[in-house]
Amino acid sequence: MNEMSRYDVIIIGTGAGGGTLAHRLAPSGKRILLLERGDYVPREKDNWSTRAVNLEGKYNTKEVWRTADGEPLHPHTNYWVGGNTKFYGAALFRLRREDFGELKHWGGTSPAWPIRYEDLEPYYTEAERLYHVHGRRGEDPTDPPASAPYPHPAVSHEPRMQQLSDDFARLGLRPFHVPLGVLLDEANPRKSRCIRCGTCDGHPCLVSAKADAQVLCVDPALEHPNVTLLTGAYVSRLETTPSGLEVARVIVERNGTREVYSADVVVVAGGAINSAALLLRSANDRHPRGLGNGSDVVGRHYMGHVNSVLMALSKCPNPTVFQKTLAVNDFYFGSPEWEFPMGHISFVGKLDGDTLKAGAPAIAPGWTLDLMASHSLDFWLTSEDLPDPNNRVTLNRAGEIVLSYQPNNEEGHTRLIDKLKHLMKQQTRCTVHGHECHEGLFARSLYLGQRIPLAGVAHQNGTVRFGRDPQTSALDQNCRAHEVDNLYVVDASVFPSSGAVNPALTVMANALRVGDHLLERLR
Ligand SMILES: Cc1cc2nc3c(=O)[nH]c(=O)nc-3n(C[C@H](O)[C@H](O)[C@H](O)COP(=O)(O)OP(=O)(O)OC[C@H]3O[C@@H](n4cnc5c(N)ncnc54)[C@H](O)[C@@H]3O)c2cc1C
Ligand code: SF4
Repeated sequence: MNEMSRYDVIIIGTGAGGGTLAHRLAPSGKRILLLERGDYVPREKDNWSTRAVNLEGKYNTKEVWRTADGEPLHPHTNYWVGGNTKFYGAALFRLRREDFGELKHWGGTSPAWPIRYEDLEPYYTEAERLYHVHGRRGEDPTDPPASAPYPHPAVSHEPRMQQLSDDFARLGLRPFHVPLGVLLDEANPRKSRCIRCGTCDGHPCLVSAKADAQVLCVDPALEHPNVTLLTGAYVSRLETTPSGLEVARVIVERNGTREVYSADVVVVAGGAINSAALLLRSANDRHPRGLGNGSDVVGRHYMGHVNSVLMALSKCPNPTVFQKTLAVNDFYFGSPEWEFPMGHISFVGKLDGDTLKAGAPAIAPGWTLDLMASHSLDFWLTSEDLPDPNNRVTLNRAGEIVLSYQPNNEEGHTRLIDKLKHLMKQQTRCTVHGHECHEGLFARSLYLGQRIPLAGVAHQNGTVRFGRDPQTSALDQNCRAHEVDNLYVVDASVFPSSGAVNPALTVMANALRVGDHLLERLR
């Protein structure tokens, strides 16, 4: 192996986990290689076209996976520098403190993490700073304790959202401002990089104002001469020393050729499904079930949340441009009538006719898609799914990814939807149309039914869990493989349970935590 292909650290993937880790390690002067299968998202007008992004799926991977039945699965995921953070809605939540312990759900028990909330708290605070999070501490009744205020003020509600927030408050709820990672300065709009456009959630930011891993972590890391990025670099396999105790070679397919790299430390951060697939692909004599998979947990316990998009149609138009500012967590842990967790209510980016066409929803009588979109409030509901060992990533004989998943713990989600419907019926504020204004809540058949289907893998996690016991986890508390000394995983794979808030901030905070461990190790 020549001198040029040996590094101190190789990081595979540049999303929330890999990109954040690169940023943490870059100032150390260690030789770091980032391997990213994707390229930079091109900056072009289509970045902000709902037609190109949602209807035509221009930036989605064209890779085809399989369902458990062997049917083709077209995953809604993105392979680019910055990973899925290029497309995310930048709602950057901490998990609740209770999410780190065991929690009883209707469908079973959500397992504890091997670290406590307090262990991650300083890193959450750092991650919020790094990713420019705007928010207001203390509004959200389930907020865990924090050692610092949000670094930026909450993103304000537009009038329709403020009206809804006031209505919810009048009904006794504690609605709050969603913590958002955007480079927005509302006090100085002329100079603000973010313009509060209507095409944030699901879209790349044309003006690089979204707090994504490329803009805020990978690009600054690359300013250090010791950091190198290879794009179009698909890691096909990890090979070990004969003892199986260390990764010796990272095999890369790039520009149609095979390249080999090595490093003292190899960090996998390909996203929960791809990281598990890479470890499974890397099976050898010493690791017959997949690299670091003596426990047989690699690929198992796939979680993706139980998610729904629900449109509330009313006679009142909803002219909101940037809709993702409001959320409700009053039912996160249950309600007086229901002792089990239900989940989180918030919003997707404002839907429009083109986006609705992508899902061919049922059209309300007398409405067109464009009219529906201009009158709807577009809710996003998230509930926790539990880690079931049979919900898993495997590879078929052709080497394709197979995703097997049976939804679980659905009752809380059903009740959350009922709660929201009930709340919307009680809206009393419309002075023009009166009580009848809110005609009801329509499930948007974006894909099939109201649920986000299997292909909606945005919140994928859980497939390479960390834990204390090598029998039941693949990684130790530092996210190092129990069985392979120089192998780490720092993406959403590591989650032992998923809570019911968006995952990215936890991935980022954990990458910073593991980064500190690696800095110690490499000293
Ligand atoms: C439309 C959308 C909206 C979302 N909104 C939110 C939100 O508002 N809030 C939130 O918290 N989360 C949100 N998410 C989820 C969030 O983006 C993910 O939780 C987060 O990006 C996961 O980080 P990760 O490091 O695990 O993986 P990723 O960010 O997906 O990064 C993985 C990277 O690895 C690369 N890679 C994969 N395999 C290989 C390989 N074999 N070789 C080389 N490179 C490889 C990929 O190309 C990718 O760049 C959203 C996701 C989507 C798709
Ligand atoms: S300008 Fe602001 S709201 Fe629009 S995509 Fe960029 S970060 Fe999101």
